[in-house]
Amino acid sequence: MTTIEKLLILQERDRRIRDLARDTEQIPARKKLSEATLQQYKATAEASQSLLKHNATAIKAVELEVETQRQRIGKLRVQQNTVRTNDEYRAIEKEIAMVEKIIRTEEDKALALMEEAEGLRTNLAMQEQRVKEEQKTVDSDSHALEQRLAGIRDEIARLQTERAAMEKEIDADWLNRYTRIFKHLGDFALVPVEGGSCGGCHMKIPPHLIQDAKRSGTMTTCSYCGRLLYWRS
Ligand SMILES: [Zn+2]
Repeated sequence: MTTIEKLLILQERDRRIRDLARDTEQIPARKKLSEATLQQYKATAEASQSLLKHNATAIKAVELEVETQRQRIGKLRVQQNTVRTNDEYRAIEKEIAMVEKIIRTEEDKALALMEEAEGLRTNLAMQEQRVKEEQKTVDSDSHALEQRLAGIRDEIARLQTERAAMEKEIDADWLNRYTRIFKHLGDFALVPVEGGSCGGCHMKIPPHLIQDAKRSGTMTTCSYCGRLLYWRS
């Protein structure tokens, strides 16, 4: 096998390793994305819970008010039994009627609050169900991503072992040049001459460089991008 052929195989492995490494970098972001909806659903459910709590506090306050007003009526009735004149009696009667009106208003309030609570509970139940389902999705996504990550890491380790063995078979000077360019450019270090142009940067190559590349088994350097050029016969 020629140096060019060996370097091309090495490059193919390096590109694969690079792609796989990029895949692993994307996994945390994909996990986060998968959790974003769940967080949103949880926040909505928490907001409903908080509304329900406020509603319960409001109902209690109204009930307490009703109880206070009822006690007030009780006291007024006792007082009514002790009065001497009709006027006094009627005055208390009037006050009782007013308190009863307050009670009715409070009871209406309580009724409205209870209806509101019912709606809130229905919403909350739906939202909690949604959280549960989304949690399942997130868990299964997370599991799949973990498995994928483990698979990728195994694959990278395998490729690296392979390429380490291959490196030993390649001429050290060419290998160093190849490695330096691949690290620097990150896509291709070794490219063919394509229709008189560099297969990497696509610039037209001067004829003397093409002649150099055509010499069997050797490579030349693209004067524009610095990649190694070879002639594909
Ligand atoms: Zn080039």
